[in-house]
Amino acid sequence: MWDLYIIEYACSHEPWGGLVNGMEQEGMVDLPFSFILACHGERKILIDSGFMQTGSRNEFPLKFSVTQWISPIRMLEQIGIAPEDIQDIVITHAHFDHMGAIGEFPNAQIHIQKRELMSWYEAAALPKRFSHLTKIIDPENLRQVLDASFDHRVSLIDGDKDNILPGVHVRLAPGHTLGHQFVIVESSAGRKVISGDCIYTHRQLSGHKHDGVYAPLNNATGSVWDQLISIDRLNDELLGDKTNLIIQHDVDRWKEYPVVAELEGYRVVKVV
Ligand SMILES: [Zn+2]
Repeated sequence: MWDLYIIEYACSHEPWGGLVNGMEQEGMVDLPFSFILACHGERKILIDSGFMQTGSRNEFPLKFSVTQWISPIRMLEQIGIAPEDIQDIVITHAHFDHMGAIGEFPNAQIHIQKRELMSWYEAAALPKRFSHLTKIIDPENLRQVLDASFDHRVSLIDGDKDNILPGVHVRLAPGHTLGHQFVIVESSAGRKVISGDCIYTHRQLSGHKHDGVYAPLNNATGSVWDQLISIDRLNDELLGDKTNLIIQHDVDRWKEYPVVAELEGYRVVKVV
């Protein structure tokens, strides 16, 4: 059984309409960014990594309206975790805000869908006229994964797999990206489903009119069709209980859970 912590580390200010289909009239949103720490005895793993802002890389998040940020490493320090302690990182998808800090964890095995990694290599190799596809990808992150591969620190997952680590399961959920996955963790608080970017808000599951009609994202590189099937897979894994879901960009900032640490307004909450 894993103890789960949600670690907030950034916030963007952007229109809902750029994010979620059907929310074009909803104005602006302060969207929190987070990654997950899971601890089981001495074993400590992350689901996604957050991103770093150093040197020239400051400009990259600014392009995506990320107005506030704190180092994910400083947030982990608040609860006594050093980067060297992290043994595994499960990456939901390769967007910079989910994979941007992988270079900070020298001992971590990186678990990512094979299709996710290969599709970004393929997209990067296309002529410049296709560069819309890779605009949320930091090339440096792909270089870091390649380096880690030669260190034998990358596990390429091919589809759904139970127990990639004991009690940690992944489900291929394309749409937002071609090889996106969401993650299920058998935690001390029960079976929790970690969204990745399948959805940004509960409304995408429950329907804008509370009619159960799924709403896709407006910022995907995969298809709407794939997104809706992936949202349905996510819904199935909730086993009828929406409290089993952890949304990584939850605008309510995981208010159902206690805050166990706070630094400069950014929170660590414990899933209990
Ligand atoms: Zn994303």
